[in-house]
Amino acid sequence: MTFTSGYGEVDTMFSRRLRRLTPYVPGEQPREGTYIKLNSNENPYPPCPGIQRYLAAADAGELRLYPDPVSNNLRRAIAGHYGIPADMVFVGNGSDEILSFAFYGFFDSFKGPLLFPEYTYSFYPVYCAFYDVDYRKVPLKPDFTVDLDGCIGLVETCGVIFPNPNAPTGIALTIEEIDGFLHRYPRDRVVVIDEAYIDFGGVSALSLLDRYPNLAVVHTFSKSRSLAGIRLGFAMSNPPVVRALTTVKDSFNSYPVNKLTQRIGEIALREDDYYRNVSRKIIKTRERFSSAAVSKGWEVLPSSANFVFMRKPGTTGRTIYEGLKSEGILVRHFGITGIDAFVRVTIGTDEEMDILLKAMGKKW
Ligand SMILES: *Cc1c(COP(=O)(O)O)cnc(C)c1O
Repeated sequence: MTFTSGYGEVDTMFSRRLRRLTPYVPGEQPREGTYIKLNSNENPYPPCPGIQRYLAAADAGELRLYPDPVSNNLRRAIAGHYGIPADMVFVGNGSDEILSFAFYGFFDSFKGPLLFPEYTYSFYPVYCAFYDVDYRKVPLKPDFTVDLDGCIGLVETCGVIFPNPNAPTGIALTIEEIDGFLHRYPRDRVVVIDEAYIDFGGVSALSLLDRYPNLAVVHTFSKSRSLAGIRLGFAMSNPPVVRALTTVKDSFNSYPVNKLTQRIGEIALREDDYYRNVSRKIIKTRERFSSAAVSKGWEVLPSSANFVFMRKPGTTGRTIYEGLKSEGILVRHFGITGIDAFVRVTIGTDEEMDILLKAMGKKW
């Protein structure tokens, strides 16, 4: 739904740009804590212990001054963690902000449309509308995997963006498939790989950065690092691409990442062992939940993420969503033709998934 003020004719007080917008609709964020919340791919486990200690001892006086505009300490920590130079790292206020800068800075329809998978992160078409970028959706293969071959030779394009693993399907492409695609794709068009869920079983395309000057890999602290609440993401790419993102940032907001967030990001990287364990646990829960759901007659797509995309033959996705909501469990349903039968279920704790399995057994 595009914007209307409700003021009727006085709508003209707003820009034509605003009236063209169709905003992204995030998962419901209920205020009361009465739901088991499996609808936004948040991590069910708390952030690493060092963050709690840091917050308990934090000095409010520090907040008087602006933060480092380019998050240098954090960039160095990310660079050290991934074994790349710091000038290959860009830090932003959530990966959504970085994606937005990428759309602004890289994708320009005079070179042709942007390509992304038909069923994917629903923010991409929103940014396209925001920045006036034409796009073409590339159908998934019949098994719901992303079709990178379909991105080659279709038309002249201004770039490609896709999540790996894809959302909401959860299915990952292999590094060989991505390499093969990049090898055939023009080097003067940026390819953004949105690796929001990479820590739950996929293989990052990071190792391909030195061979492809046009590749940008985007990560977030929201999912595997349990920090959706601080809004922190980063991109890794070659220095010219990082400089381009920095130019967009500095034309919009010099200080998008606050001091506490920069510091917390560093601590999270330092305590990586904790997070490896959390991700392992979530993967284990995902596999256990998926097998149990399959044995109850559900179809579950093979996931490399912290969610599964699943359907129950003979039942609509909307019915499943509503039935589970009435049982106090929130999942995500996308009322989109082609994936309408599915719901996307975030992997919570073992206890939460057991309650979900019980509700599924009771209802269907
Ligand atoms: C969650 C998610 C993001 C957004 O991450 P933030 O860092 O919280 O903005 C980006 N891309 C995909 C595919 C996601 O699922």
